[in-house]
Amino acid sequence: CGIMGYIGGRQAQDVLLNGLSKLEYRGYDSAGVAIATKTGLHVEKAVGRLQVLADRLTTSPIVGNVGIGHTRWATHGRPSDENAHPHTACGNEFAVVHNGIIENYLHLKEQLLASGHRFSSETDTEVVAHLLEAYDTGDLFSTVLRMIKEIRGAYSLVIVSEKEPGQIIAIRKHSPLVVGFGKGEQFLASDIPALLDYTREVHILEEEEIVVLTSEAIQCFDFMGQPKKMKPFTVTWDA
Ligand code: GLU
Repeated sequence: CGIMGYIGGRQAQDVLLNGLSKLEYRGYDSAGVAIATKTGLHVEKAVGRLQVLADRLTTSPIVGNVGIGHTRWATHGRPSDENAHPHTACGNEFAVVHNGIIENYLHLKEQLLASGHRFSSETDTEVVAHLLEAYDTGDLFSTVLRMIKEIRGAYSLVIVSEKEPGQIIAIRKHSPLVVGFGKGEQFLASDIPALLDYTREVHILEEEEIVVLTSEAIQCFDFMGQPKKMKPFTVTWDA
């Protein structure tokens, strides 16, 4: 439902919680974050209000400057801690947040189960984390391109990898995503209000665009992996 991503010099959990709080008006049943730390990806998620997650993160902060966050509006699988996003696969190497629906997830899940993958949620989203693990090329961008070929539906997806924590990759297909440009830090969200405390320079992703965020820059590609020009503009209104 709501998506926020951050890469830069600030504590990611603060930016993610603030960004998600600006998207609360959309409604949600659970919330979670995945943050790249010195010891790998750390995930914290909780059913209920964003404040439940915020309280846990205040008590036990996750220290790291790269992360993704999500507020979920369940479509597949009841609201629960396990079904909240981000989702990871067995190796805990990739974390994924997702808005929308992966239409062919049951078929993909059957194939993945048959090849030994074990699932920990009832969501359509979790297949994406397992597909990334199954098709891992050692390079996140090419792994993502390979994964996209398998999934059908309407989605925005945001992915971080434990082995390549210097980047966040996001994909748009029939579900909105926007990136925000900063100096030495970059942002992404499912809607502009989440970005306005940090930047007013934004690009709204077009259909079938992939963006790669590093702390220094944002690059844009089509689903074939070809570079595309973005259309940045300055937001002049206040949320
Ligand atoms: N289909 C996903 C789920 O049920 C994503 C829902 C959403 O857009 O928040 O977990």
